[in-house]
Amino acid sequence: MDIRKVIVIGAGQMGSGIAQTAAVTGLETVLHDVRLDIVERGIANIAKSLAKFVEKGKMTAEERDAALSRIRPSDNFENARDCDLAIEAVVENLAVKSTIFKSLDSVMPAHAILASNTSSLPITELAAFTGRPSQVIGMHFMNPVPIMKLVEIIRGLQTSDSTFEAIENLAKQMGKVPASCQDVPGFISNRVLQVMINEAIWCLYEGVATPESIDTIMKLGMNHPMGPLALADLIGLDTVLSILEVLQNGYGDPKYRPCPLLRQYVKAGWLGRKSGRGFYNYQ
Ligand code: NAD
Repeated sequence: MDIRKVIVIGAGQMGSGIAQTAAVTGLETVLHDVRLDIVERGIANIAKSLAKFVEKGKMTAEERDAALSRIRPSDNFENARDCDLAIEAVVENLAVKSTIFKSLDSVMPAHAILASNTSSLPITELAAFTGRPSQVIGMHFMNPVPIMKLVEIIRGLQTSDSTFEAIENLAKQMGKVPASCQDVPGFISNRVLQVMINEAIWCLYEGVATPESIDTIMKLGMNHPMGPLALADLIGLDTVLSILEVLQNGYGDPKYRPCPLLRQYVKAGWLGRKSGRGFYNYQ
């Protein structure tokens, strides 16, 4: 299947990164959110990110301009009507995502694929909200999308081979390395990662060490590019909490119990980098 035009739903940190990468790849790209001012902020972030690629000599100014000209803003699902693919990247909440999948299913052409960038929610369940479960798949990009190589591809129970192949090929075309996994809570990446992040938060909660100490130990000791608390701030603490809840509910195992300190930070609106405050202060 030839994917030429894509709509990205959600213009937050992941949606913007996905739209940027799609536009750089040469795809006609619609970036959609609930309000146009949010989309414009997303496009401004894309322009900033592309400017850095130009500064570093990884892209010419003409290539940047061409990529930006391929992105169209949207606050109306009607703009999905002529798209071959939707990549949904809204908040990690099944109720919100399922409503979007229903709307996309009702307007998109019969051949279109519906993909979700969810970090942990069941693809099979999202597919059940549509009349095309064989064309629903998980396309899980990593943060920051323009830099990170991996795309974790998740097959729902009914995902067809042709849908899988189309998304695997697209990921490669976007310069990424696809790796596939079954539809289990948290897939591979977050089932493993979030246990480490949660444990680091428990260490902080119990007063075992400062955030700086915890992150230095994990960064230098394990040769990780950043410590688990800094990574949690980058992901967004609301997203980290949602993923841990999916793991806890999905496996029923207390090892996934979110640390109370994480819940408290999220209630306070300390969501990490995106809100200016998390385990570290970014203001
Ligand atoms: P974010 O908070 O930065 O952005 C979410 C966006 O969704 C916001 O712009 C919001 O306005 C929009 N939105 C909410 N409801 C909407 C609706 N009904 N219609 C259209 N747009 C709507 O979140 P994010 O970090 O970009 O995460 C988005 C998704 O990507 C989540 O499913 C998350 O689990 C997943 N993800 C996140 C990371 C990460 O590191 N943050 C990594 C991989 C995957």
